[in-house]
Amino acid sequence: MALKHYKTNGVWPAAIGFITLAATYGGAIGAVLTDQTSAMAIGWTFLSLKGTMLLATLLGIMRRPQLGWKLFRGRYIFDHKHPRRAAVQAFTRFWWELPQLWLGYMVSQWRNIIGQMDRVETIGGVTFAIAEGRNDGVYKGLSLGCYVNMWISDSIEGEFDTFVRYRSSQMLMHEFGHTLDSMRLGWGYLFIVGIPSLLSQMAESSSHGRQHQHKKLYAERWANKHAQRYFGIQMRDLEKDRTENH
Ligand SMILES: [Zn+2]
Repeated sequence: MALKHYKTNGVWPAAIGFITLAATYGGAIGAVLTDQTSAMAIGWTFLSLKGTMLLATLLGIMRRPQLGWKLFRGRYIFDHKHPRRAAVQAFTRFWWELPQLWLGYMVSQWRNIIGQMDRVETIGGVTFAIAEGRNDGVYKGLSLGCYVNMWISDSIEGEFDTFVRYRSSQMLMHEFGHTLDSMRLGWGYLFIVGIPSLLSQMAESSSHGRQHQHKKLYAERWANKHAQRYFGIQMRDLEKDRTENH
């Protein structure tokens, strides 16, 4: 029964995704054709975001076909193991999460175009664009919509799912956690999570890691909490925070 359930999982989210996407295009074209300036501005904004994504896709696929295609395909992959989550992803991705989706996609496809990305992997409807083997030994992640741009110092071996779950830094799970806030906060994500998180990270690295405040930022704790619930794995930062609270 579980297997049967699993097989039909993808159909509804795909239908919801298709309808939502068609509706946003329809709405945007309709808005452009009105004589109201504000509606026209919204319509043109949507269409130009879509247009630049299409251009990035074409250049990315021309430059490195396999990786470029995998990045593009990531926009239409939802969480097949969790149908309800997949349905929410399909509904929110193309309009509610549009600013961060656009940014995340443009960054990853740009890295592909300039040859600064080695692999593309998808887990739970979230696409990871990864550069491996950085020689500064630093792990970096940028979570935008359903795209996570990562720079890692080692390389991925074996199943990606296993790597994400058991990689000692837990950073990939953490970045995945941010994507749940993107679904929740929509257009507020960049202001509530994205920008504060980036600033706090910059402040920490400018102090050369002497002040470990970044992990305590509300947005970072949210991401860990989401990741912990999703993967069913205890996140170490939360453990640490909890002992500190005692
Ligand atoms: Zn974070």
